[in-house]
Amino acid sequence: MNTDTPQLASLSLNDLKTYVMAWDFPAFRAKQILDWRNKGILNPDDMKNIPQDLRNQLQEKLYCNPLTLIQRQCSEDGTRKYLFGLQSGKTIETVLIPDAERATVCISSQVGCVLDCPFCHTGTQKFEANLTAGEIIAQVLAVKEDLRNNPLSSDLHDQVTHIVYMGMGEPMANEDGVHTSLKILMANDGLHISRRRITVSTSGLIPQIHRLGEKHPVNLAISLHSALNHKRDTLVPINQKYPLQQLRACLNQYPLPHQRHITLEYLMLDGINDREEDLKAIIKFVNPERERINLIRFNDYPGSPYKGTPTASMDKFAKHLISKGIRATVRRSRGQDIMAACGQLKSSGMIKM
Ligand code: SAH
Ligand code: SF4
Repeated sequence: MNTDTPQLASLSLNDLKTYVMAWDFPAFRAKQILDWRNKGILNPDDMKNIPQDLRNQLQEKLYCNPLTLIQRQCSEDGTRKYLFGLQSGKTIETVLIPDAERATVCISSQVGCVLDCPFCHTGTQKFEANLTAGEIIAQVLAVKEDLRNNPLSSDLHDQVTHIVYMGMGEPMANEDGVHTSLKILMANDGLHISRRRITVSTSGLIPQIHRLGEKHPVNLAISLHSALNHKRDTLVPINQKYPLQQLRACLNQYPLPHQRHITLEYLMLDGINDREEDLKAIIKFVNPERERINLIRFNDYPGSPYKGTPTASMDKFAKHLISKGIRATVRRSRGQDIMAACGQLKSSGMIKM
């Protein structure tokens, strides 16, 4: 299948209607096919109400399933991590994080990452490729299929309620793939997930954040990690190109629905960004009306040069921020036993089959 072949996972209803009609089938078949697709069924042979000759056309003319499940690991806390193979032979990871009311899928947007934040396991892997919209959406569809076959014990059954672009890669460095995938994830005839339930996390690519706000104003999370330029230059190297002043102006303009906040993610590294001066800088930087701070525990990985701030100090840091009228929470880490936590994703070399 060459790269120009349309992907079933990222087709809109109108696009699919055009194909179906060109193949001499009635337009209503397109809706039936998308109903299967949106449930996570990408193999035409499993689309029971579709005539065999139309299934054959789908197989021949479309690229139906871009992902092959290579490995699935379940954590003690219910988190599931999936390793998928792409047609190119490269691999990516996706994580499902269930809790009482939510089933959140954390999706990857690139193989490796274009950037190289020194605390990030993905960042230590070299950049290999942008994912296509089909490959991004197919991650969600594959998790839906897994949830149907292996339901959660909660009431959520096969529902994916939330999506976060926080897996491997920098989503704002793959605008084509990310924008098209957002369109299909939110569309009524797509997966129909509300923009309030989708979050894009970025290390801070300013022009791209503006365009996201204009085209698909989903929830925004920014990897802040320091509110001091000289520290952020090292921790989040894109800061050298787009320093904090520019980030500040950009965040002020990002469209926010009523009572919603931008999340500023702040990874706490022992002795690096957890001192008095760091706290003061955050208090100065943050706009408490529109932003909240999510303090992230550092997730260790083999060979990492950093140590996380001890829990007690993180709690103290959070309390201090709260006392200044800033919404601050400490993020619980999930799936650590299977290396599924933030910044631990790195696909190459981890599978043993
Ligand atoms: N590239 C995007 C999205 C993927 S990273 C971004 O940087 O925002 C998702 C989150 O995990 C980011 O906030 C990132 O800073 C954080 N992260 C990376 N490595 C981590 C680690 N070792 N421990 C905890 N969080 C980490
Ligand atoms: Fe890339 Fe985000 Fe990791 Fe930085 S933290 S290297 S931007 S994935």
